[in-house]
Amino acid sequence: MGPPGAGKGTQGVSIAQHFGVPAISTGAIFRANVEGKTELGLVVSRLMEAGELVPDEVTVQIVASRLAEPDAAAGFLLDGFPRTVAQAEALDALLAEAGTPLDAVVSLTVDEEQLTARMLKRAEQEGRADDNEETIRRRFEVYAAQTAPLLARYSGLGLLVEVDGIGDVDEVFERIIRALGQV
Ligand code: AMP
Repeated sequence: MGPPGAGKGTQGVSIAQHFGVPAISTGAIFRANVEGKTELGLVVSRLMEAGELVPDEVTVQIVASRLAEPDAAAGFLLDGFPRTVAQAEALDALLAEAGTPLDAVVSLTVDEEQLTARMLKRAEQEGRADDNEETIRRRFEVYAAQTAPLLARYSGLGLLVEVDGIGDVDEVFERIIRALGQV
């Protein structure tokens, strides 16, 4: 977890590689559908461009079917999911059914000013449609209102691992792996 631009995608891929599990990014799945002009892509593109969340039912369905694929049986890394209380509750139910509880929830902390600068740079490099200033601002609001409350939830469950997301990519990765070793 982490606010937009905190480095979830980059670190998620590295963590997954480290543990030999698939990285499952809802944002990446949605973007692939937008690029492929699928039915789902058409539904989600407008929401993504506006910085709004895709409806919970749609998102949970996507994650449920992805987690049911064989490569996720021995473990997985979720990037950008859950983002709402309803999604967290749906994930609890899915994992209870599968008998595979979460081992940890990593939260990357970074200050908003640095994040905005980072995201505008990424917009230039990757041309992401949702990395313009207005959308970025909206994504921060959505994160604060809908996603940040999950931190207390996972903290209460003893799963939250907070890691300082400021620094170069390798340095932050080392911090995450060290922190996960202490869970
Ligand atoms: P991300 O790449 O994780 O920043 O996600 C990019 C965009 O995809 C978000 O701003 C949302 O519009 C959508 N999205 C990704 N994950 C979720 C989720 N778990 N719930 C709802 N919308 C999501």
